[in-house]
Parts: sequence; C-alpha cells; structure tokens
Amino acid sequence: MNSKICLACGELFLTRPQNPTQTYCSKKACQLKRRGAWQKLKLQTDTDYRDNQMRAQKAWMKRNPDYWQKYRDTHPSNVEKDRVLQQHTNNTDGNDEIAKMDVSTCSSCPSAGIYFLMPCSKKKIAKMDVWTVELTLIGT
Ligand SMILES: [Zn+2]
Repeated sequence: MNSKICLACGELFLTRPQNPTQTYCSKKACQLKRRGAWQKLKLQTDTDYRDNQMRAQKAWMKRNPDYWQKYRDTHPSNVEKDRVLQQHTNNTDGNDEIAKMDVSTCSSCPSAGIYFLMPCSKKKIAKMDVWTVELTLIGT
C-alpha cells in the first residue's frame, strides 16, 4: 500500500492493494467527484458515450415530460435559489452566453503536466484546499 494525496479532498490516504493507481480516497464525496470527473472526461472524449447519454436523456424526458414542472411545483425554495444563482452567473463579467454542456476554448492553452489547483478568493487562500491535478491535452 502506498500513501497518496486524494485529488478531491487533498488528504493523505492509503491506496487499496487491489488498486495501486488509486487517486481518490474512499470517502463518499471524493468517490462522487471521481465519478463526476470520469463522466465529464468521457463526455468530452468519447462520442459514442456522449451520443448514448444524449439518447438516454431524451428517452427519459419522453417518459417523464412533466418531471421538471412537478419538481418546480414541489420545490419552490430550490427554484428561487436556482434563479438567484443563475442571475449571479449571468451577471459575472465576461459571461455573455450560457452553455449547458461544458465546452471551453482558449487562445493560449496550458501545456500538459502536473499542477496545483487552489480556490482563489479575495479574502484568503487556504493551503488546505490545494489539489494536485494532472492536465492532459486532448485532441488538437
Ligand atoms: Zn478524498
């Protein structure tokens, strides 16, 4: 067993003997982040997976056409919270369009490698929140 720093929470953990390349600890929140990161990467890189997910979502929406209306009717506080968050997002500088899928382009892309990622706020930078991430460039 090796000790590593979890890519999600930044804490030290022991890798499982069955999975020596493990990069996330076993906490539920970290495993959710791992799966989310996997799915995000899969959606960006695997066209079959992306098409399949889109078909599955469309089929689900066809079977549940009134889901979101019922959700809004039964969760009015969430609707208001989402509205406020969306207004904040819309008012953020430089954000002139809303995209449902995460698509980004950059004029000067960083090079592939290992980076430290930390939340940036005007008030403080907490060293405990530093993540080690590996950037892999996909496509050209
Ligand atoms: Zn963790």
